[in-house]
Amino acid sequence: TGIQELLLSRIRDVADYPEPGVMFKDITPLLADPAAFTALTDALAEIVVSTAATKIVGLEARGFILGAPVAVRAGVGFIPVRKAGKLPGATLSQAYDLEYGSAEIEVHAEDLAAGDRVLIVDDVLATGGTAEASIRLIRRAGADVAGLAVLMELGFLGGRARLEPALSGAPLESLLTV
Ligand code: IMP
Repeated sequence: TGIQELLLSRIRDVADYPEPGVMFKDITPLLADPAAFTALTDALAEIVVSTAATKIVGLEARGFILGAPVAVRAGVGFIPVRKAGKLPGATLSQAYDLEYGSAEIEVHAEDLAAGDRVLIVDDVLATGGTAEASIRLIRRAGADVAGLAVLMELGFLGGRARLEPALSGAPLESLLTV
């Protein structure tokens, strides 16, 4: 469709970043183009409506850039999920495995509550490890996961299949799949 062509045309492929053999999808050209950024924000705001979400959780760091304007547009709250050690208040933490080593993400416990329906927003779905950990974190905070919305899904990494059990029926919406 037209919007998919517009979005795709504003994503830059950067070879061998952050390490040799990786083709990094860089969204800064899209952010710099107001027509593309607005189209993306509108498309994600429609997913807030279709999933009946009441909150957006954005994943550090590009999930903040995409999720915040969507929250404003859709009229729902925004909650950052951050890398460990960045949030000043009482946090819930979730560790997860990376290819080499592990990572930990956190959320302010009091920003989520029972009854919240959360749409998770990020730029790129790769292996799904980060999204899977954020689903756990949201459920541990007592909230429900309404869905996961990403600009781009890297299909060859199998993130969708990995996330299927964790999502337990909630939709995974990707605007672009490569
Ligand atoms: P995953 O946990 O393997 O799914 O990795 C997803 C996380 O890494 C997301 O927070 C993405 O922002 C980031 N990421 C992985 N690959 C790319 C890429 O090619 N472009 C931009 N971000 C990426």
